Amino acid sequence: LNRRLAGFGTTIFAEMSALALSTGSINLGQGFPDTDGPQEVRDAAVRALREGRGNQYPPGPGIPELRTAVAAHQQRRYGLSYDPDTEVLVTAGATEAIAAALLALVEPGDEVIALEPYYDSYAACIAMAGGARVPVTLRPHVEGGASFRLDLDELRAAVTDRTRLLLINTPHNPTGTVLTRAELAVIAELAVERDLLVVTDEVYEHLVFDDAEHVPLATFPGMRERTVSISSAGKTYSFTGWKVGWVTSSPGLVTAVRSAKQFLTYVASGPFQYAVAEALRLPDAYFTAFRDDLRAKRDLLSAGLTDAGFTVFRPTGTYFVTTDIRPLGESDGLAFCRTLPERAGVVAIPNAVFYDHKEAGAPYVRFAFCKRVEVLADAAERLRKTFA
Ligand code: PMP
Ligand code: GLN
Repeated sequence: LNRRLAGFGTTIFAEMSALALSTGSINLGQGFPDTDGPQEVRDAAVRALREGRGNQYPPGPGIPELRTAVAAHQQRRYGLSYDPDTEVLVTAGATEAIAAALLALVEPGDEVIALEPYYDSYAACIAMAGGARVPVTLRPHVEGGASFRLDLDELRAAVTDRTRLLLINTPHNPTGTVLTRAELAVIAELAVERDLLVVTDEVYEHLVFDDAEHVPLATFPGMRERTVSISSAGKTYSFTGWKVGWVTSSPGLVTAVRSAKQFLTYVASGPFQYAVAEALRLPDAYFTAFRDDLRAKRDLLSAGLTDAGFTVFRPTGTYFVTTDIRPLGESDGLAFCRTLPERAGVVAIPNAVFYDHKEAGAPYVRFAFCKRVEVLADAAERLRKTFA
């Protein structure tokens, strides 16, 4: 293994899902739903397969139907207008979009600012691109409902003459934080003032709760032309195995990302692209029902974790709830997660693996609530019996 990737080891998701299988535990680690997405979308995939659409290499930028559907979605939800031919690119999940964007836009030695804790592929992709990762730590706040917040002064202070790019994830994995319009406005001003590129990971764009609102950075003044917006079908439609993602940006940036993407996978997911084009056209009622269902699951698991003695940070977005294990008399989240399957029959993810400042992340542990109600209730009961 080369020097760029040495030290990354095996992704925590593979390690913890394997542990769930080998111990027969409830897997609240890796974020995937245990019920599949809409039947009509699955039917659309089967139809495409049967009718021979997408069984051979689809066009490199993605099938026109899907690019058009992505552009229509951005227009309908956010009032953002993109040309499906020059400003939309289909990728093999958001994961490939992130990799291609970083490989295309980062010069060796460039600094890339990412919010810490960060999704693990960011660190590896920045490294593969030869960039230098500069983490800005989200800080825990307990007043007014516990949450992790971005300190905008810390973000500003992290920008140097070598900063090339801000990598922003909202709704944020693993903390469940949704950046506010006011926070995003400051990030946008900073990007314009310092002439930075911005890559936004918006895969949880439809998974927002309470009064939180997802606002794409590309909607702020001066941002559309410098922002590479990334999303995917995995979370929104509960098909994480399909790996259909997309990029929207200005023509120059889309061309750059496509230059890298063509040599990673060239294309992927032929028949699924047809199905996702149909999914993107589902009425707003789909998103509302989906969000209400997830919010109830968040509340169920959060209550269970609170009863078991964890401090719970209230997520307003994503699949995940982050907890502090110190009230249980524990302090090392990694050790805690490695023994939790044996002790309680539950698998979780230690947030420390998403930090450079390991001590800042040590006591936090993430649980996924994108599971059936009876599964969440069972997990909560196991945790209560073990710790309460
Ligand atoms: N970004 C974030 C923040 C994620 O949590 C995930 C996890 N699925 C991805 C990107 C990857 O998305 P995809 O499955 O579409 O590649
Ligand atoms: N995004 C999912 C999570 O954060 C997992 C994706 C993966 O397995 N790489 O849990």
